[in-house]
Amino acid sequence: MTMLLETAVRVIGDPRLVAGLDQGRLDHQRHLWIHGTQPDRTRDDYIQLAEAVGLRGRGGAAFPVALKLADLPTRGVEAVVVNGSESEPVSRKDRLLLTLAPHLVLDGATGLARALGAPHVLIAVHDGAAAMSIREALMERNDGLAIEVTDTPGRFVAGEARAVLSALEGGPAVPPGRRVLPTRKGYHRRPTFLSNVETFAQLAVLARLGAKRFSSTGLISEPGTQLLTIDGSVQRPGVVETPTGVPLEAVLRFAGAEAGPVLLGGYHGRWLPHGGGVVLKRPEVPAGIILALGTDTCPLGEVHRVSQWLASQSAGQCGPCVFGLASLVDDFDRLVKGDPSGWHDAQRHLGLVPRRGACAHPDGSARFLASALEVFGDDVRLHLANGGCGRHVQGVLPVPGGSW
Ligand code: SF4
Repeated sequence: MTMLLETAVRVIGDPRLVAGLDQGRLDHQRHLWIHGTQPDRTRDDYIQLAEAVGLRGRGGAAFPVALKLADLPTRGVEAVVVNGSESEPVSRKDRLLLTLAPHLVLDGATGLARALGAPHVLIAVHDGAAAMSIREALMERNDGLAIEVTDTPGRFVAGEARAVLSALEGGPAVPPGRRVLPTRKGYHRRPTFLSNVETFAQLAVLARLGAKRFSSTGLISEPGTQLLTIDGSVQRPGVVETPTGVPLEAVLRFAGAEAGPVLLGGYHGRWLPHGGGVVLKRPEVPAGIILALGTDTCPLGEVHRVSQWLASQSAGQCGPCVFGLASLVDDFDRLVKGDPSGWHDAQRHLGLVPRRGACAHPDGSARFLASALEVFGDDVRLHLANGGCGRHVQGVLPVPGGSW
């Protein structure tokens, strides 16, 4: 186990992405010693390898990498973009990779850029330590490509793919009001491959190991390993690398989690009443986030607090998002105080918000809130009957800038 940036790194099974990190940051020499050199692969190699192992993007959308690659033209790809604007408050895996294993991420991005004939590699980062580490890594190597590191704001929707592209072009870090695939119209409206940090680290490992060795661990349908961030009411929070398909219960036990409800996938994810019966794989665990709530805090109060933060993160350009999320904050406020109209209005607004914004923020926020009402049904009844559940809000769900 290693500690850096107050994040512990652990592993269940054999380490791949976190190999060598027990000694701290890997400079280029130590990176090569642990991982070996990056082999040259062609565009077709990458498509075949990604397809053979069913590799999915390791951000929120979990889109199949082979499909994304195949959607690019054979010529004229402008850029490969590493999205390091991880803005889920709970997630720390991408920041950790950029900070401790920057060369693995760079190998994945530069290897793919060469295969696609893309002249630019652009890295969007919103964490200061991660940006410093990746810039330091660039000084330790020469890839013969134009590689730029851009600092982006830490706002939640600033990590959305089109918001990242806008920021890289010097515009505001908000999603434009239209849905366009980066593979068709990405950086400067040219075909672009954009994915999150862990995806590139996985591609670097896959290019080295090949499909057969990569598939020696994890699920048959989606082999390999995954990085998970575990937080909340646990004795050992941090980032853990596990084979895909590991039971959630085993990970919770490993982290010393309290019994109780579990949030899978962060603040656009969903609640489970407990950790039983779930295996961890994409896309069921978006962004690799697991948060144990425990039993000492008021679940509805915690969710209300997050709803305020989610509403504050709207980019302010789509009415259903701006007004819908604000209404839901008000609904949950009344519900927490025991007003039945809060519950009724929340049900109504949760049906109106999804699929009406220019990005997935309202949909994800509604999913999080709707699953809370479902899983915390007993607490809803207690609040409506007594004006509360008898527990105080402990602030188990982290909210940037929140104080409790
Ligand atoms: S849906 Fe919300 S966050 Fe997304 S672009 Fe519209 S206003 Fe911004």
